[in-house]
Amino acid sequence: MRVLVTGGAGFIGSHLVEALLGRGDEVWVIDDLSTGRRENIAHLESNPQFHWCWGTVLDKKLVTETVAKCDLVFHLAAAVGVSYVIKRPLKSLITNIRGAEVVLEAASAEGKKVVLFSSSEVYGKGNCVPFKESDDRVLGPTAVSRWSYATGKAVDEFLALAYWLEKSLPTVVVRCFNSCGPRQTGDYGMVVPRFVTQALLGEPISVYGDGQQSRCFSYVGDVVRGVLLLAEHQGAVGEVFNIGTDEEITIERLAFKIKEITGSSSPVVHVPYEEAYASGFEDMKRRVPDLSKIGALVGYSPSISLDKLLVLTVNDICQRLDIAPPRGLPVVESSSALVGCS
Ligand code: UDP
Repeated sequence: MRVLVTGGAGFIGSHLVEALLGRGDEVWVIDDLSTGRRENIAHLESNPQFHWCWGTVLDKKLVTETVAKCDLVFHLAAAVGVSYVIKRPLKSLITNIRGAEVVLEAASAEGKKVVLFSSSEVYGKGNCVPFKESDDRVLGPTAVSRWSYATGKAVDEFLALAYWLEKSLPTVVVRCFNSCGPRQTGDYGMVVPRFVTQALLGEPISVYGDGQQSRCFSYVGDVVRGVLLLAEHQGAVGEVFNIGTDEEITIERLAFKIKEITGSSSPVVHVPYEEAYASGFEDMKRRVPDLSKIGALVGYSPSISLDKLLVLTVNDICQRLDIAPPRGLPVVESSSALVGCS
């Protein structure tokens, strides 16, 4: 197949591109490197099946021309990360809403299927876990920037579903729950690479709030595998799917686990939310996906535990920091670890 991956130089995008090339597809990437990194795809650039376009999804001409060359579109290009979105709410809204509109419009004109990446953020601060795709969303006031990201992603979902309903454009929506793994950076707020980097450098591990908020951290290779299964399944069209893992952990427990795995002497410290983000910041207390819908349709279930995911992340960050992995770090078999990524 010929496939366009918008945001293909980003963390999830680059793993998806690798998997597509691995199965013999020809792949085009559009990325403006706002949060993506050229080094994520540098190792792919010599592959004749790989085509790299530096540009933004707001560029209608570029998107239209590239969509015309492809059979399938994965739309990942977006402003990501709580910290990034709070600092740049306007850019985030424009990139996320207008960008999706440009991609869907171009795909509709050419009749090309779109798999749209959304986020578990759309559930907001609802407390009824696990979250099912059909659950109500609970969002805070418009004065709190965090909710603009959740709203923007929900608008993207509405657009994708409306294109299917009104224009018969095949679209599939995936809601990612805290995807993690090699190549993710902590620059935009993501907690796992932040804690691992802090632990490896002997800096305080910064737990925001009381640390009793919980998340489920999923391995990017599992996410890619699930998304590829959905992209191929006719029954996924016009539907929304959670993807990730339902192994839940509090952020404080995560901090101590990372401290232990890395053998770090870093203290675990608590930082008030107002200091970490902005006054009035609202966090989600728990976020756990119900994975029964994707499991029933394509047989998806996560294959990598949090412990293995952390080992892979520690190894990756050691490489990037150019330091030796901590002594005693468990070995994770690459064959099982790279499910979906080769
Ligand atoms: N968090 C933290 N310390 C950090 C970064 C994040 O305690 O240095 C917390 C954050 O407040 C949230 C959780 O970790 O409760 C997950 O944050 P992340 O930004 O990775 O993802 P989110 O689930 O909030 O989108």
